[in-house]
Amino acid sequence: MTSWEHEVRDRQQFRSQMVRNFGFTVMDHGVALIRCPSCNVLSAINSAFPDSDWNSVPHLLSVLETFLESRSGQIVCTSCKGAFDMPADKSDFEYWLWHSHFLPEVRQDLQLLIHRKNGNTSWVEGMLVNEAGEITPLSVPMAESDFRGRTGCFFSVRQAWKDFLSEQWPVAGFAALEISDGYYLVVNPPVDSDKELQSFKENCVKLVGKSTSNNNQYEFADLSWADTWSFEENTYHQWLNDFEADLEDSDVIAGVLASPQQFYSVIENELRTFSCWLRRDGDTNQIAFLGDDDYYVSFDYREYLINAMIKGYSYWGALRFVEPVLESWEQARETGERLKKLLIDYSCTVYGGHFLQFRRKRGKKIIKEFDLTALSECEDDLDQDSDFIAWIAPLIDLNPETLKFES
Ligand SMILES: [Zn+2]
Repeated sequence: MTSWEHEVRDRQQFRSQMVRNFGFTVMDHGVALIRCPSCNVLSAINSAFPDSDWNSVPHLLSVLETFLESRSGQIVCTSCKGAFDMPADKSDFEYWLWHSHFLPEVRQDLQLLIHRKNGNTSWVEGMLVNEAGEITPLSVPMAESDFRGRTGCFFSVRQAWKDFLSEQWPVAGFAALEISDGYYLVVNPPVDSDKELQSFKENCVKLVGKSTSNNNQYEFADLSWADTWSFEENTYHQWLNDFEADLEDSDVIAGVLASPQQFYSVIENELRTFSCWLRRDGDTNQIAFLGDDDYYVSFDYREYLINAMIKGYSYWGALRFVEPVLESWEQARETGERLKKLLIDYSCTVYGGHFLQFRRKRGKKIIKEFDLTALSECEDDLDQDSDFIAWIAPLIDLNPETLKFES
């Protein structure tokens, strides 16, 4: 086994641990290994793409292929600490790239290995890694429909839209593509009469009747609602290039049928990795509560889903909107518990899931009260109490020396 293969294997083990710990919130992660011209050792350059919003497998590959070559500045060797430049013409320039992207829908990590030499890709290897670390080879790139056949999920709903419209255009009748159970892309010619509208509705009802889930509440969202609602980012204008103008200029219906109940179940399932629950008052209430018995926050999961349907995300892609809610709860809990321990001159109670009230040990008067979720986001891990106090004191009018509230 060569040294770059060793390096990749070490990284894969680390990655498995990351996926187990972070579940659907795990970021894309990768490394580029480049041979240092001075000491000949493979030097590792980490690459993470926090907003891993890929429109297709070829889109991801093209970003990876240009990751190192579009980098400005020198590369510092991790072994001899010598700095070297990327040759302008890319000649005699050889490196390996390993990249991983988690597919929460099928609980598999999609990993890619790329070899680049002289500015060209000499080979690409794909693999699926399951939770037990078992590897299944996967040839990439491949068509979305093949990707689903091999992995059990679409890589990108956006690419699925393109493929679907290529097959259906010009749209002559009602047609649908199942993305996952209870999530469908739908097209229909323009509806000009009540009769046509009735027929469109009947086709939709028939379609969702095929779903194996027993819920019957579905939402429809047309891609063009992005214009009505003045969405600016991630609309079909950005990712449906070939059909963007056709859709904009015609009254063809192109939208998604999906179920908020099913999305709720997906969120519930994905949150099992974290020590929190998901609840709602009644099965059809669109407001969900995420948290534990003391700390919790609420969000409108139906609204998140509709947003996702318009922006080309599946149920699992829509989890990107739930992630900040999870982070908000984690920070509220962490901050609340630390303050309780540190501010020993007060008695403290949590109410409404994220409000803290401080009273003097004797007496009922509330000295201080604030919303934990309204505090600015804390970027660093504040392991030391002194760092934590330095961060929070000015936000809540706390004297950092005496640990008492300023009156
Ligand atoms: Zn070196």
